[in-house]
Amino acid sequence: MYIVPETAIADLIDAEQSFDAVEAVFGAMARGDAYNFPVIREAIGHADALYGFKSGFDRAGLALGLKSGGYWPGNADKGLTNHQSTVMLFDPDTGRLRAVVGGNLLTALRTAAASAVSIRHLAPNGAKVLGMIGAGHQSAFQMRAAAGQRDFDRVIGWNYHPEMLDRLADTAAELGLPFEAVDLDRLGAEADVIVSITSSFDPILMDGQVKGGCHIACMGTDTKGKQELDPALLARGRVFTDEVAQSISIGEAQHAVAQGLIAEGDITQIGAVINGTAKGRGSDDELTIFDGTGVGLQDLAVAARVVDLAVERGVAVEVDF
Ligand code: NAD
Repeated sequence: MYIVPETAIADLIDAEQSFDAVEAVFGAMARGDAYNFPVIREAIGHADALYGFKSGFDRAGLALGLKSGGYWPGNADKGLTNHQSTVMLFDPDTGRLRAVVGGNLLTALRTAAASAVSIRHLAPNGAKVLGMIGAGHQSAFQMRAAAGQRDFDRVIGWNYHPEMLDRLADTAAELGLPFEAVDLDRLGAEADVIVSITSSFDPILMDGQVKGGCHIACMGTDTKGKQELDPALLARGRVFTDEVAQSISIGEAQHAVAQGLIAEGDITQIGAVINGTAKGRGSDDELTIFDGTGVGLQDLAVAARVVDLAVERGVAVEVDF
């Protein structure tokens, strides 16, 4: 079996390769070739930690395995990242362990790839203004991946903690794009594409604030109770997701569905748009929303790609197991 340590990942896979891996597995999910197993997530009663597994099997890409990890709030004091994860891949023909792969950077890359896939397939073609809600760890990855999908000429951003906005300004500068911090009225009125990536439990962006054609990639809501958007936005727009079952239970759509504003049947799997079996954006004036809940198959897809690249380049550590 192979080990690909966390420290090796940055030199092996980039946003574009992550995009290809995630787009392919979303397509496989919609064809019924890949499926996620039920998610386990538990408060373990030690170190205030939340720990769990996301797992699945992609019959098309032959990726079988799991991402194990969670959130340890005391890690920052130890000089470690609070989110910790590791991916294990198994040989689908024999069940033998194929690889152990560091999952921290991969989580950011696969999450950014998901919203980028939604922007490629759903955003208005002439989108010029990228709006960012959230300025935490994930936001820089999100902005980098989104920026490649349309010919944006500026970035505007809002964050609940304004002192964190430097991250957005620095990332925009790295991409050669002007950045301006704005209020939510301006963000909703001016942005053609909005990425929201916060840990909010209350709606941030309200229906009346979003004007004209727009695509919103709503990426922060991945747990019961979290929320970033006014449910009326989901009622007004067309809603797409990585996996419908997660969208209505732990994703942004949980609230609009619970309030009876939309039904499960109103939500389209993004993979079906990728495969050409469902309609994407109808016109530039439409509001489209991608509810990116984060599925285990995304982790397996990028990890499998990393293992192939690491073996090819001779940097995978081979262990007789
Ligand atoms: P982080 O802790 O680095 O940043 C948190 C962000 O949320 C900051 O912008 C912060 O200002 C904002 N925030 C905190 N409290 C808020 C509030 N009450 N109202 C509005 N904003 C608030 O976190 P991160 O690593 O950037 O992750 C952001 C979110 O994305 C988390 O909720 C995380 O669980 C989620 N996430 C989702 C996926 C997925 O696949 N969908 C993957 C990874 C992370």
